[in-house]
Amino acid sequence: MDFIDLKAQQERIRSELDAAIARVLDHGQYIMGPEVSALEKRLAEFAGSKHCISCSSGTDALLLPLLAYEIGPGDAVFTTPFTYFATPEAIALTGATPVFVDIQSDTYNIDPTLLEEAIESVVSAGELNPRGIMPVDIFGLPAEYDQILPIARKHGLFVIEDGAQAFGAEYKGRRAPALADVGATSFFPAKPLGCYGDGGAVFSDDEQLLDIMTSLRIHGQGADKYNNVRIGLNARMDTIQAAVLLEKMKLYPEEIELRQKVAAGYIERFAALGDTSPISSMPSVPAGSTSVYAQFCIESERREQIQSALSAASIPSPIYYAKPMHQLDAMLGRSRCAPSCGCPVSEAVAERIFALPFHPYLTEAQLDEIVNVIGGA
Ligand SMILES: *Cc1c(COP(=O)(O)O)cnc(C)c1O
Repeated sequence: MDFIDLKAQQERIRSELDAAIARVLDHGQYIMGPEVSALEKRLAEFAGSKHCISCSSGTDALLLPLLAYEIGPGDAVFTTPFTYFATPEAIALTGATPVFVDIQSDTYNIDPTLLEEAIESVVSAGELNPRGIMPVDIFGLPAEYDQILPIARKHGLFVIEDGAQAFGAEYKGRRAPALADVGATSFFPAKPLGCYGDGGAVFSDDEQLLDIMTSLRIHGQGADKYNNVRIGLNARMDTIQAAVLLEKMKLYPEEIELRQKVAAGYIERFAALGDTSPISSMPSVPAGSTSVYAQFCIESERREQIQSALSAASIPSPIYYAKPMHQLDAMLGRSRCAPSCGCPVSEAVAERIFALPFHPYLTEAQLDEIVNVIGGA
């Protein structure tokens, strides 16, 4: 069984994809062709953001706003330890220090109560200068922005939403990643909305920040193309990837609905296992939010046993995330945890969590098979 079946989706739109790619080959504008700005307009509309800047990856989509805010050595950016490495990597790449704040045990997102304490502890320690917060919408579920944004305002911090896993997820009537000062997403093929290579996008309503990120995306270019005004990146999205995404966007609203159905199918079946279920935690989506389920992750005290039963049935069940970020070698000595040592909730979750196959085209029969194997493990 596939963990993510990208072929089922491709079959639905293969001829449209072929035609869209052929149009790019015909016009030959491989860099910043007309599809790029058409896509940016479409993505901004869908997310409900004034502007979108496409770019070369989700990682660059995090780096562009960090560079635009001019953070560097001595600065602290608060984030979650329960994420993909690219989140703290982008912060550390600027020379700033990622400060890890533990998660809520039900949503796996950064805990706003601990966040406030963490900021206060960094302020009173006086070694680092708090500059920003980078919450992650983990597994496709938006973080608690209604609590995070007021904390940020109170302390004069920016908020960059890492919505790499959550494009189109809803939060109180709005959509990720347009829930903070600036939001980033990824179009890596396995993300909920993926292209056929690397790609990403940044969203914001802040015109001044957008101007800087537009310049940073192309080598810090200025109004005069022979005079670069800042140190930037080569972070453009390829025209061919934009053409692919424009076709995939036609399916995406329907696929978000299908994702809700597949998740409900899992939840119903696990509930039917009753008291014999080996599962101790299922995805929890707060009222007013939706998840786009970049991953469908569950927890069990008997993870190893369940994973061997799944593996024997050729059902993949990778672990997201086996180690919280503060425990990775690259982060040692370069990051810290706050308000106190370690992140016990993240560490405990990492011991029990694993992911199940998930995509919009998972069938009822496949759901039956997966849940039966787990029920019998
Ligand atoms: C995938 C991912 C990224 C990085 O995106 P790329 O497009 O692979 O560079 C960043 N943050 C999170 C939470 C991700 O899941």
